[in-house]
Amino acid sequence: MNEVLQHTPSGLYCSAGDFYVDPRQPVNRAIITHAHADHARAGSNSYLCTRDGKALLQSRLGSAADIKTLGYAEVLTLNSVKVSLHPAGHILGSAQVKIDRGGQITVVSGDFKLDADPTCRPYEPLRCHTFISECTFGLPIFRWPRPEQVLREIKSWWQANRDQNRTSILFAYALGKAQRILAGLNADTGPILTHGAVEKINCCYRAAGVTLPATRYIGELESSKIPAGALVIAPPSADNPLWMRRFPHRSRALASGWMRIRGNRRRRSVDRGFVLSDHSDWNGLVKTIQNTGAEKIKLTHGYAAEMARWLQDKQVDAQVIATFYRDEPQVDGQSS
Ligand SMILES: [Zn+2]
Ligand SMILES: [Zn+2]
Repeated sequence: MNEVLQHTPSGLYCSAGDFYVDPRQPVNRAIITHAHADHARAGSNSYLCTRDGKALLQSRLGSAADIKTLGYAEVLTLNSVKVSLHPAGHILGSAQVKIDRGGQITVVSGDFKLDADPTCRPYEPLRCHTFISECTFGLPIFRWPRPEQVLREIKSWWQANRDQNRTSILFAYALGKAQRILAGLNADTGPILTHGAVEKINCCYRAAGVTLPATRYIGELESSKIPAGALVIAPPSADNPLWMRRFPHRSRALASGWMRIRGNRRRRSVDRGFVLSDHSDWNGLVKTIQNTGAEKIKLTHGYAAEMARWLQDKQVDAQVIATFYRDEPQVDGQSS
């Protein structure tokens, strides 16, 4: 029996069910793992995602996009295959795609993480025959500290800045990372201000029932009214002289898995680097791949070649799928 998913120039295609998973070009029917830009591209005739992820996907694709939804674990039959979406623990609404063709199970992980995140449903371990895994951080050097510890570090950095009348500017990817950080903070230390890109996503999270502390869109404040002890959450792209000039006394920090590599903090010339990722670290990847019980592993994203070699040395049937996602740029990555 040929494989249920074929690698095509438009992305992963299931001919038996006539759909693509996270296609990179417009197609007839797209199943979307989550709303990050490298997985959710505009122009397809119809989309399917989780109910939790719909508002985010709609804001990414525009109001005209035709988006249907499934609840987690709800089964949709498309021709001869059964499709269901299962929590990936990555961001609100993120899913793994499970495809069942005559009892042969293929799972596409999308982006995923195992660490606790109060803003989305936790990763659900799935058993399958073929597992298509991301491996953005597929090198043994990537090991994450406990997220609670990182949040404590963020709080003490903020408090220390406030005590010295400095504004704390924390750069974090606007979709997912920013909300995960916010959910771990409260406004007792000082006011929390947000860049417009972050505030827009906060609205979707709050509408989905995720509890976030009070935040204020910074565009509503005049520069002279910005309280010195405030924490500002902004995407890395906001780190430019024009946007930053409203904060004359400041400390800049970046929250990303890439901060695990020391040189990256220096290269970005931020004062602090917090190691916080919405992807799985090396140990999590290895454990997840083993727990699927899959006899075939296919790898995409990041260090796929290195991870494939490591698995092959352990006699695992592992292959790299030629990158069908645009590789996520380091540090400024879509979902680092
Ligand atoms: Zn991704
Ligand atoms: Zn992602």
